[in-house]
Amino acid sequence: MPSVVNGIGTWYYGKRRIHRHKSTCSFCQRVGELESYDTTLYFVIFMIPLIPLSRKRIHEQCPACKRHKVMSLKKWEAQKEKALAAVLEKPDDRDMNVAAIGVAIAYQDQALFDRLAPTVASDHAHDVAIQAQIGAGYSYFARWPEAEAAYRASLALDDQPEIRRRLGWALLKQHKPEEATPFFRHILEQKLKDEAGTIFVLIQAYQAEGLHTEALELMDERDTAFPELAHLKEYQKQRQTSKRYQSSGKKVKSPILSESKQVGYQEGGWRAGIPKFIGPLVVLGLLIWYLAAAFHMGKARQVFLVNGLDKPYTALINGREQNLQPRATRSIELPEGEIEIRFANLPLAPVQCRIETPFFSRPFTSRTFVVNPDQLAILIWQQTAYSETPQPGQGRFKFHLGELLYSFEGINYAFQPFPDSVPIKSGQTITKTRIDLAPRLNSVVRLNLATANLDPARQIEYGKRWLEVNPEDQMALYWLLLQLGDDAGLEYLKTGLSARPLRVEWHRAYQHLNELRHPENDLRPEYRRLLEETKGDANALYLLARLEDFEDYDRLLR
Ligand SMILES: [Zn+2]
Repeated sequence: MPSVVNGIGTWYYGKRRIHRHKSTCSFCQRVGELESYDTTLYFVIFMIPLIPLSRKRIHEQCPACKRHKVMSLKKWEAQKEKALAAVLEKPDDRDMNVAAIGVAIAYQDQALFDRLAPTVASDHAHDVAIQAQIGAGYSYFARWPEAEAAYRASLALDDQPEIRRRLGWALLKQHKPEEATPFFRHILEQKLKDEAGTIFVLIQAYQAEGLHTEALELMDERDTAFPELAHLKEYQKQRQTSKRYQSSGKKVKSPILSESKQVGYQEGGWRAGIPKFIGPLVVLGLLIWYLAAAFHMGKARQVFLVNGLDKPYTALINGREQNLQPRATRSIELPEGEIEIRFANLPLAPVQCRIETPFFSRPFTSRTFVVNPDQLAILIWQQTAYSETPQPGQGRFKFHLGELLYSFEGINYAFQPFPDSVPIKSGQTITKTRIDLAPRLNSVVRLNLATANLDPARQIEYGKRWLEVNPEDQMALYWLLLQLGDDAGLEYLKTGLSARPLRVEWHRAYQHLNELRHPENDLRPEYRRLLEETKGDANALYLLARLEDFEDYDRLLR
């Protein structure tokens, strides 16, 4: 029998070539409409048939206890084919005809039965046994009028008590108790105690038509024939029922005779075919949902914006203003693709980056995107282990800096601290990762981290960028000049000479390197012009004084 646990397991879906007849369940002995049918055993999830496993023939499934016999449909068909091939070899042989009808009944094949029965019946119109068998076949398919006709034909040839009983039964099924009664009368006359049960049902048939007076008369006859049974509880109850409804004529349904509309044979129609589409439909539905999710996620990708500076600034991300507080993080949603960043109040050039995840694996990718417009943030990637008895030294960390866009895999905590504890199973150790901004660092530490984590070209880039934002940082300036060397340093310093207010330290370094590398260059005219341009600015005067001969220097300085 198929079974499911939490909605997952196997189950029968779809019914075809359904045969139903009222009989006694061989497992629980209750009377019910036993159902036989072709079906498909499916692998189900939440009772949804997803994968067809095998086709089955269910035999006489009990409506009460659900128990049944089951056989592979293929095997069942093969057996039937074999049986048929044997009996159809000699179509004119009487015994083979009988056997063929038997196969049609045994395999509940109404179409086959209908093909054989009329011909066989007319070919053997005077064969008592064949007429009786055809009657039994029609009974089995719950076609009571045809069963009645066949039994009558049989009975006309030879009045056998068994056939009388069966004809009576076919009439009872057609709600004709009065017509049926003569065929059961011999039970009372001959006091056939073993068949007293049939009289019990006959009485029920009268009650089912509301004929309680007739039912009571029959009960009297029965109790006279079988006085030893009259005290039975069921018999007493039957009598009470008719007494109660005698005047009203209420019809009391017989649990044995009543049949649902489903008895007999049915092909099973289009509904039986639905289950095989459910699996593909569910898969299609999931696919559409998945693609929609992938599309939607691409339209609204979560991105962490990070300010790596110690001062606030405003960045225009795809034209939208984002105010960023010092060393702060903000989560925004951006469509995947090109991202344009401009700076409203920082002396930095516009930058672009591209956020992209593969479309088809998008719903399953767990990426954390971090955009740092100033490219100066120091990020710490950290991993830690959780276990019952924490071991020291299990954590790992790594610095990330100098990038506009970061993409991290499998981050558990983005810009959040690690929790103190996480639920784990006994003996288990699990690792968690987080990403966060480093605490406030001075430029010396920043530049040391750049030296340790970036290649030389990127180190210089980082230093220049830092100085663009913090031109007054002397430590950073001399660190950068050391990295650049004298000639490149001299060229770099020239880029800052025209800045106003004057960057005194840049000019001092420029004068010093010029003296060192190009002593033939006289900078005095240049600085005289600067003094003139700045209308006697004290710093310009000081810078000029550094270049003059000693007496002039003394005078100017004073
Ligand atoms: Zn049962």
